[in-house]
Amino acid sequence: MTKKKIEKDYNEKIKRLVKLDQFYYEKSNPIVEDSEYDRLKQEILKLERQYDYLKNKSSPSVSVGFRPSKNFTKVAHKVPMLSLANAFDQDDLINFEKKIMNFINQKEVVEIEYSAEPKIDGISASLIYKDGQFVTGLSRGDGKEGEDITENLKTIRDIPHKIALKDFPEEIDIRGEIFIQNDDFKKISNKFANPRNAASGSLRQKNPEETKKIPLKFIAYTYGYEKGMKISEQNEFLKKLKEWGFKVNPFNKTIKGIKNLMKNYYEIENKRGKLNFDIDGIVYKVNDFKLQKRLGNVANAPRWAVAHKFSANSGISIIENIEIQIGRTGALTPVAKIKPINIGGVVVSNATLHNEEEIIRKDIRIGDTVLIERAGDVIPHVISVDLKLRNEKSKKFSFPLNCPSCGSKTVKEYNYTTKKEDAVRRCSSEGFICEKISIEKIKHFVSKEALNIDGFGKKIVENFWKLKLIRLPQDIFKLDYAKIENLDGWGKLSVSNLKYSINLRKTISFDKFIFALGIRHIGLENAKLISKNLKSLKNFISLAKSKKFDDLINIDGIGETQINSIKSFFMNSTNLKVLNDLNELIFVKDAIPSKGGGILNNKTFMFTGKLEGISRAEAKSLIEENSGSIISNVSKKLNYLVIGEKPTKRKIDEAKKMKINILSQKEWLKMLNKTS
Ligand code: NAD
Repeated sequence: MTKKKIEKDYNEKIKRLVKLDQFYYEKSNPIVEDSEYDRLKQEILKLERQYDYLKNKSSPSVSVGFRPSKNFTKVAHKVPMLSLANAFDQDDLINFEKKIMNFINQKEVVEIEYSAEPKIDGISASLIYKDGQFVTGLSRGDGKEGEDITENLKTIRDIPHKIALKDFPEEIDIRGEIFIQNDDFKKISNKFANPRNAASGSLRQKNPEETKKIPLKFIAYTYGYEKGMKISEQNEFLKKLKEWGFKVNPFNKTIKGIKNLMKNYYEIENKRGKLNFDIDGIVYKVNDFKLQKRLGNVANAPRWAVAHKFSANSGISIIENIEIQIGRTGALTPVAKIKPINIGGVVVSNATLHNEEEIIRKDIRIGDTVLIERAGDVIPHVISVDLKLRNEKSKKFSFPLNCPSCGSKTVKEYNYTTKKEDAVRRCSSEGFICEKISIEKIKHFVSKEALNIDGFGKKIVENFWKLKLIRLPQDIFKLDYAKIENLDGWGKLSVSNLKYSINLRKTISFDKFIFALGIRHIGLENAKLISKNLKSLKNFISLAKSKKFDDLINIDGIGETQINSIKSFFMNSTNLKVLNDLNELIFVKDAIPSKGGGILNNKTFMFTGKLEGISRAEAKSLIEENSGSIISNVSKKLNYLVIGEKPTKRKIDEAKKMKINILSQKEWLKMLNKTS
């Protein structure tokens, strides 16, 4: 890479980081997960290490937080409010201590004493006291200047307004963390991603009356500047804070030696799930103030402190209950309801336990302390159980032998392909006997890939089911709109929108219809194969009468498993009723034989970003109707990348590199002789 290219890449990364900072710090509404932010930060730092000519005042190596918001008066901090360097493992801690030793040129082995303080994940504030009176309160801002949030801070009960003790310094800037307790966060969790954002959003309200409504807490842990303080160690200062009337963290400790820091780290991590406040690591501070002064700061963090972060991918919590969810195909999925825990900025309260075998293999029980992993898009799951912390009276979890929803027997099917019993236990009921299965089937029926009824989401299905408005898929086309109009949250306009969306789908392609029925093992691709072969709904229905199921084996791609599944679908009288009723109520178009040679013949497409006014499923079928095809990776095989709103930058960059044609939605529709 040329110097110019490196600089361009670096500056683009910084620009993105500043944007993410703005959403996180100023708007209290992050647009990416912390892990993604941290990755970008590491990439920038790595580039700076590799190329020493790279410099930017917004670089994470020199900057702190984000500039103060215009909503508040800016006030300069007398002593800057810095960030903290991070450590992730024992090696990082060894390195941290080594750097201290080198800096002070300490040859002989001395053990440094640290104040180890759980790092509450909130936002820091500086409280200025003059003659015992709380006079000004500031946020950290960009470290040099903070926002004047005095009136908001005054609404917080943990902050003393007046301290009339003799040994309280004449002037002092007490610093600490504003946060929200987990049980209070629960009440507003629909508005914020995690307790930290909730605390920040609530604290930095324009109107202090709004802040007052949220039960914010404050714990104190350091000071900025002071006049007349006679304390020489951090642990002594923490003790004094308590005497002066501040809350301090009950888990603060004084520790010597890296091994003991690690021991404390694991102990606190194990307790994390039980605490009523969110912590994201432990802060270690050199205990001796004199030594702190000698060590001083780097650009944006003190040399004498480090934040030992908990993993951004995993966390320890407690299983409060094990619930069984029942899917559309009757699969029973056990889900652990865990004590909510913040993993990398996301509050996790459910973890999948996959299936019965997984529970047996790991011997997972209610009440267990468990390690939960949450990485990327993977659903949070239990990695392991801490057997040492298991309650003696705990009992093995017994998986239900009857469906918790309808009471039918649950079974493990024999898989003819693998010649093994399935790991998944299923409800053995057929058709629409089981309430939970029926609800899931209807959700599938209206979903994007199936009938694609706009605005008919999962919540609406559940609500309509509760109100007995729907029991079978065909009921969707016989809804009592007058009744719906009078329901809570509904009105003339929303009902007319719903009616419009439903009527729009009264005409549907044969393959989508087969898929919408939700027959087990018949996904989109198989539905297409069957549709191409049978051509019409009439032929499909007549399968029931002619019983010529075995003829389906001639379809390339359809095997015994699919045929058996179709057979059992047709053996159920409710399924037949659904099929016949739908045939009366909607129009299922016959399959159009593919002629090939359409406008997009032999052309491959890929989409990135949200398309306007058209679903991905519809766009895909438009391409296929015109003899084109969709591929899922940017590769040499790709002819066109179509970009919608908020596309993935990486895909565009890759396409550009490979000189692949990039089209806007408009340009793509033009290819099809359509306009949006
Ligand atoms: P930091 O939160 O990692 O550490 C510094 C802060 O620790 C201090 O300002 C203070 O508020 C706090 N703290 C808690 N207890 C303390 C104690 N006992 N002593 C001293 N300080 C204590 O640093 P940061 O620079 O404020 O934030 C970085 C974090 O924010 C990262 O985890 C990052 O992922 C996240 N972030 C995320 C996004 C996003 O878009 N998702 C954007 C920006 C930042």
